[in-house]
Formats: sequence, structure tokens, C-alpha cells
Amino acid sequence: MLTKAKDVVCTFCGCLCDDIILTLDENRIVRVERACANGMGLFKNYNPDLLSPKIRGKEASWEKAIKEASEILSSAKYPLIYGLSSTSSEAQRVSVKLAEALGASIDSTSSVCHGPTGLAMQFVGEPTCTLGEIKNRADLLIFWGCNPIVSHSRHFARYSVMPKGRFVQDGRKGRKIVVIDVRLTQTARVADVFLQVKPGGDFELLIALKALVKGKSLDAVEAGGVSTKVLQELVTDMKTCRYGVIFFGMGLTMTKGRDLNVRELFSLVKELNDHTKFSALPMRGHGNVTGADQVMSWLCGYPFAVNFSKGYPRYGPGEFSVVDLLCNKETDALLVLASDPVAHLPSKAVDHIMEIPTIVIDPAESLSAKKATVYFPTAMYGVDCEGTAYRMDGVPLRLKAPMKGNRPSDEEVLEAILEGVRRC
Ligand code: SF4
Repeated sequence: MLTKAKDVVCTFCGCLCDDIILTLDENRIVRVERACANGMGLFKNYNPDLLSPKIRGKEASWEKAIKEASEILSSAKYPLIYGLSSTSSEAQRVSVKLAEALGASIDSTSSVCHGPTGLAMQFVGEPTCTLGEIKNRADLLIFWGCNPIVSHSRHFARYSVMPKGRFVQDGRKGRKIVVIDVRLTQTARVADVFLQVKPGGDFELLIALKALVKGKSLDAVEAGGVSTKVLQELVTDMKTCRYGVIFFGMGLTMTKGRDLNVRELFSLVKELNDHTKFSALPMRGHGNVTGADQVMSWLCGYPFAVNFSKGYPRYGPGEFSVVDLLCNKETDALLVLASDPVAHLPSKAVDHIMEIPTIVIDPAESLSAKKATVYFPTAMYGVDCEGTAYRMDGVPLRLKAPMKGNRPSDEEVLEAILEGVRRC
């Protein structure tokens, strides 16, 4: 019998669109409405058929797999827990408890995306806001180093460019859209203004903008590859808008300057608040990567790259972060939670993953899962298990479980491993 589930949350990206309609035939998703292509893929490709864990590629009982995973982690000298960004905050919380029990390092995918945003935030604060405020108030939107038309396909329609807001009743016509990027992206093509910054020139551009906002004049004819005249026009728009927002992505956080770029961006936004209302918001990628930062921060005091080997949390981006630990061959066991490092990390890091025992907890049998010493196929948060996820603006959403599943949640598997570790 077909049933419909309404107001389902899509957890593919940080937009967490909460208006998805699923048509279900028992434990199959047969129709998906309102999701973008990325969200469609998430729901339509969901396969809940794999019910047994695997040890070295062979099916095993849950008890045996939990025992094996617990022994691997307990006997390791330097275990690492990594991932966290595509699971519920309830599971993230247990993963931190497990890291503490093991004296392990724990790191999320933030360290390879918006980690520099966290660092910048700690230095200068974060001039933030919610997507609801943006929809209702923002009349100047600047997209810097991000391409939401491809990566967050419904962002324009639901939260930023298109919607009619309480104080922006003309929707798109009531907003000016500026894109700053190194190339003419699909997002840049639909913007009112496109500023092409030279690769690595973002910091210079930010400094120049801040100087102009402060009323200083520039001797140079250009900064970061953009003419001073164009920059002056942008500064005029920034100072005279009613409410401006800068959305920024990995074009700023993962290029030359990294956290210094974001620091400068936040400082620029702070300056702009002397003239009008302005905010900045990171375009977070994975569905609950914001939750990973939140959970780690309220449990450890730090958002990522935390080490528990001394019995208390120590913060060390560049030391306790995943790429550094793997490339330096420091870690001797890896637990991957809802992530696929074999597919996404640099080859030197992947080489080390191939040499050490790994445990993967993931609804999908990813590349990392296929390589894992122990693999646990789990329920997917927001599909066949409930949970909490934080939207890119830090707003937590409760996820329902529209489908009845037969697999345990990530949280349940982690709790069982934690119990096993305590017994070892
Ligand atoms: S924009 Fe993101 S959250 Fe919304 S439907 Fe697309 S992938 Fe899902």
C-alpha cells in the first residue's frame, strides 16, 4: 500500500529543506517531490536492503562485529574518529563520548571545508543571522567563493534570492545579487554583478573593501584583480542597502589565506554594521556538518580537531585534524562515522587508511565501507530513524522517520561499541 509522508527534511546539504514529500511503498521510496537533483539522489538511491554488518568483506552477526570493532579500538595506541557530518547530533554526541573513553582524536569534515571559519570566529566573532531573517529582510546578497546553484540548488528559491519576504515583497526584483569568484560559475551567470577575483586574491580584495568602507582612498587601480572603481561601486551598494548578507564558501576558506580570509570578511561585515545591517553566513555542505561543530563545541569546547589522549580535550587544527594525522601516519585505527574519506581525502591520507584497521558506520556501502575491516550498515537519519540536525544557519531541526527500517541507528551502534570498549 502506498503512503505519503509530508514535511520530510532532506539531509543532503546544509539547507535542510523541510518541505519534501515522499511516497512510500512499505520500506521503499517510490516518489520524491520538491527535492532538487541532489536531494532526489539522496532519497531515490537509498537502499535499506543490506542488513548484516561485514567483517573483512564477509557478513557477520551484529554481536561479532561490535566485539571486533571494540577490540580494534581498545587495542589501538592512537585511534581516530572521523566524519560526523552526515549523521544525527544524537550520534555525534555518542561519538565524542567514545573518543573520550578511548583517549582518541576526533575530527569532522569541517577540517576540510569550513574549519577556517571556526578559527576566524574564535578570533573576531561571527556576525551571523538566520535564513529566515535573510528571506524577510535582505536586499543585497553577495555570494563569495561559492556556487549554490550547483551545490545548494534550492537555496535561491527557499531562502535567499527568490522568496518574497515581509520587507522584500518584490522577491527577486527587490534584491541585488553580487557574485565574487575566480570564474564565471552558474551562480555568477544569474547575478546582477560579477566580480572576477584573481586566484589567491581574496585577502587583498577584502582588505581593499574594508579600507574603502572606512572612507580611505586607494592608490592602486585594482585589488585582487578587480578595478578600484568597481570596488567603490560595491562599497556604495553595501553601505546603502537596508540589509546585506555575504554567503561564503570553500572558494574563500580553502584557498590562499584560509582563516585569514574569513577573519577579514567578518571584520569587513563588522565595519559595515556602522552604516547598515549586515551579516555573513557560511555555505555549509553536508546536511549536519553545522551540528558536528555545535555538538563538539558544547561537549569539548572546540568545534573540530580535538584530542583526548591526556584525558581532557585539547584543540589542534593542523595537528589533530584528519589529513595531518593520516598523512603523518600517526593514527593506528580509524572509525569513520557517516563519511567517505577514501573517496575524498588526499591520496597520501588514503594510503595510510589502507594500512590500518578501519571501522565504518554508514547507511550506504561507500568506498570506505568496502575497504573497512568492520562495516556497519545503519539506518539513515531523517529516513528510517529520527534525530536532530542543524541547518547551515545554526537552527536545529527535528527529523522524523517516515520509513520503518530494520537497521539500527548510528547512535545505537556507537553506544554498543562504547559498551564493548568499556568491557575490553
Ligand atoms: S537544496 Fe539541499 S537540502 Fe534542499 S533539497 Fe536540495 S540537496 Fe536537499
